Amino acid sequence: MFRQIIRQGQQIEFRDDWLSHGNPWEFPRPENRYPIQFEGDVVEHNGAHQWVKTNDIIAVAYDQIIPGYKTEATNTLRLWTAKASDEFNLQIFNDGEYYSAVKNKNDSENVSRVLYPNDSTYSGKELRLKQEYFLVSASVQDILSRHWLIYQRWDNLSDKIAIHLNDTHPVLAIPELIRLLIDQHQLSWQEAVTQVEKIFSYTNHTLMSEALETWPVEMFRKILPRNQQIIYQINNDFLQRISKQFPHDFELPRRVSIINEEHGRLIRMAWIAVIVCHKVNGVSALHSQLMTDSLFTDFARIFPNKFCNITNGITPRRWLALANPDLSSMIKSYIGPQWLINLPQLSELKQWIDYPEFLEKLKQVKQANKHKLTHFIAETQNILVNSDALFDVQIKRIHEYKRQLLNLLHVITRYNRILANPEHHWVPRVVIFSGKAASSYSAAKKIIHLINDVAEIINRDERIGCRLKVVFIPNYNVSLAQKIIPAADLSEQISLAGTEASGTGNMKFALNGALTIGTLDGANVEIREHVGQENIFIFGHTIDEVKQIKQNYYHPRWYYENDAELKQVIDQISNGYFKPDCPTFYQDLTNSLLYGGDQYLLFADYRSYIDTQEQVDNLYRDSLSWQSKVAKNICNMVFFSSDRTIQAYAEQIWNIKPIIL
Ligand SMILES: *Cc1c(COP(=O)(O)O)cnc(C)c1O
Repeated sequence: MFRQIIRQGQQIEFRDDWLSHGNPWEFPRPENRYPIQFEGDVVEHNGAHQWVKTNDIIAVAYDQIIPGYKTEATNTLRLWTAKASDEFNLQIFNDGEYYSAVKNKNDSENVSRVLYPNDSTYSGKELRLKQEYFLVSASVQDILSRHWLIYQRWDNLSDKIAIHLNDTHPVLAIPELIRLLIDQHQLSWQEAVTQVEKIFSYTNHTLMSEALETWPVEMFRKILPRNQQIIYQINNDFLQRISKQFPHDFELPRRVSIINEEHGRLIRMAWIAVIVCHKVNGVSALHSQLMTDSLFTDFARIFPNKFCNITNGITPRRWLALANPDLSSMIKSYIGPQWLINLPQLSELKQWIDYPEFLEKLKQVKQANKHKLTHFIAETQNILVNSDALFDVQIKRIHEYKRQLLNLLHVITRYNRILANPEHHWVPRVVIFSGKAASSYSAAKKIIHLINDVAEIINRDERIGCRLKVVFIPNYNVSLAQKIIPAADLSEQISLAGTEASGTGNMKFALNGALTIGTLDGANVEIREHVGQENIFIFGHTIDEVKQIKQNYYHPRWYYENDAELKQVIDQISNGYFKPDCPTFYQDLTNSLLYGGDQYLLFADYRSYIDTQEQVDNLYRDSLSWQSKVAKNICNMVFFSSDRTIQAYAEQIWNIKPIIL
């Protein structure tokens, strides 16, 4: 959504002009265009509905080619751009209103300019709703028009089409498909709904209530009046059904209604998805379990067969072959190239695990990658790091639940320990951070600022030397991830247990020979099962313990007062040790931990994190043992290929078979 620049320690957002030089992989399809309606009124005539007096925008298609690896098959990803509808502009233009004609053209085309963030102001919210509907309506109209071209009938629609809702952002496709089938193609309500239930499926990506999408009923009615009627009809039918199924549970309708009446009448998009879709899945075993235990408990009782798990994966083509050519050719020299399209073959590497020569080669590959990253950091950040140090990496979106701040508490603890005991045989570390904060997320932006201020003080402290360096690499994106991950020794996956749905960064690192330090959260749980608990550093409270702590009234201050090292670190941040020119600058941050409830339990997990980091150092001193665990991680990551994930979606959810077996 933006290019991140760090100036005086702070994130600044710049426009990301990724199309300025054109895009050679995409082809305009100007003959494929659909009108997208907004606003206006709905009139009823003999039971048929007409959506009239609308303001229209035209969606024009582009095809992005998605070539498969070593296959004849290349798919197209159909994308859309918004064009002002000509008739509308001409009318105003002819009336002599040149300015409003141009403004109108601009407003229309804003719909596909930049995706609006899902927070922010009322007019921003409205733009985002329009954007979501624009993309969804164009795609659904296109799907129907292509189906009609081939079959000239609608009764086989659900045999031929599967639409997957990747999170709630495209959930509007449900009322939109019903609308088109009824209002434009003359199906009955029952015929339309029966097809739609078979066509749609939904993946949930977060349990955090603040991230679940809702729209105010009033705003929705103004922009999409016909879709709103359809959503109400879905809700009425559903509430009637459950009042028959559970006649004595008087609280149930309020909880499962699509309309949340408690917070100013909001449409809950996730509720629409769960009520209509034939399958709903989570993205890791733990997340899918929590999903039916917490967020969707009522729905799991109503629809016992609807919920399933499909654990996320990553593609070995990008995240091993492309990102790490040296490791890739080393693996090829041992077991050939078939793992590229069949990751389970990586387990053939197991026969070499006890050979020192194999481990030595792995180490040399990692060393070469660290060397390259050292150069990159020197060139782009003007920081000299020791490429023999342990590279400790946390790169991901900046979010309080991901606990970059806990990582920083460890960094400062280590700094204090080195100063207090300079003669000790310290394992040198380079701690690397990268990540963007949402532009309106001020707490996350302050964490970025603090990381940079801490880096500034520690990197300039001559007493520390090369034993500890802290680097924040700006503008985290996939290209940067491909440079950093192959050079990592330690992968930080330290979210509070129960908050990270899956994570995929965790998989990328382990596949590239980094050891994980992490909590029992998301896919970390399954990574531990696959690589073996002796080959991963697990710390912190479990989900059940977190629940206990929160129930029994959590006292962050107790940890602060009873842990001298933690107290020292918090006092340093709070007293301006890292911001001498504005000593009170970080007090809101420390206060939110000490007095604001420490929502993500940094203090409760601090001691176990610090102790586990000490175990990391101890293992790193023993290079052969470290390398042996690295090798066990790599060859036990076979489960985490996205090929396995996609095959599971195809078999369990979409009911489709590959063309070639
Ligand atoms: C993999 C990846 C992510 C997801 O990382 P997590 O650690 O799972 O949050 C985010 N951004 C980029 C650029 C990635 O490559």
